[in-house]
Amino acid sequence: MKLGLVIDLDTCVGCNACAVACKQWNTSGTTGPLTDFEPYGKDPTGVWFNRIRNYEVGDYPNSKTVHFPMSCMHCDDAACVTVCPTGASYKREEDGIVLVDQDKCMGCNYCAWACPYGARELDREDGVMKKCTLCVDRIYDENLPEDERKPACVMTCPSHARYFGDFDDPNSEVSIISRERNGEQLMPELGYEPVNKYLRPREKKNVDTYVNETNSIKAVKDWVNRLVAR
Ligand code: SF4
Ligand code: SF4
Ligand code: SF4
Repeated sequence: MKLGLVIDLDTCVGCNACAVACKQWNTSGTTGPLTDFEPYGKDPTGVWFNRIRNYEVGDYPNSKTVHFPMSCMHCDDAACVTVCPTGASYKREEDGIVLVDQDKCMGCNYCAWACPYGARELDREDGVMKKCTLCVDRIYDENLPEDERKPACVMTCPSHARYFGDFDDPNSEVSIISRERNGEQLMPELGYEPVNKYLRPREKKNVDTYVNETNSIKAVKDWVNRLVAR
């Protein structure tokens, strides 16, 4: 199995619900708590496994905003694992999830420097590295109904921009949608072989925001003006 996410940049509206649901689930899960620092101060920060970046693409007036959720890509060739001096970082054989054994982690930060996607979060309070687990404590929970055995971010996304499944299964939802919409890895040139895939925003037609002088609305207005002027 090769578990991962597909994220549709066409339908993501940047609402941050996935980031909040992730924080809520994981703060009480196996890697929790996800500590906050200065939550009510001037520069609040904290541990978040999923962060939404927002970019302005193109030139005004034809620019648009793209919302870009980023979390661990569960890379097939993950340098975060190879650089770890204690063996705390590992990739599971059975499903490809990259995890950190917090009992072995010494908080040296090497893995965060090795990750080009900014996916690792050092918890300064606990002194250990934390990261997205694909909600490993949820997706195998047989106490949950089958259709709820998904990561919290996928469960909560109001615009259905997130998909979860097995990329090794050609008939899974993630494989099918990646095939149909040319799902892409982020920065594949780095050679980490990220498992997560992104679907590009579709090209949108420009809509004229002015009334064309020769169109039928002008004809109606002229007719009304002539009528009023009589
Ligand atoms: S995204 Fe970063 S933390 Fe996740 S597996 Fe890849 S290199 Fe490691
Ligand atoms: S911070 Fe922890 S998981 Fe990361 S490289 Fe150091 S020991 Fe390994
Ligand atoms: S919940 Fe869905 S729409 Fe909202 S930011 Fe996350 S991926 Fe985008």
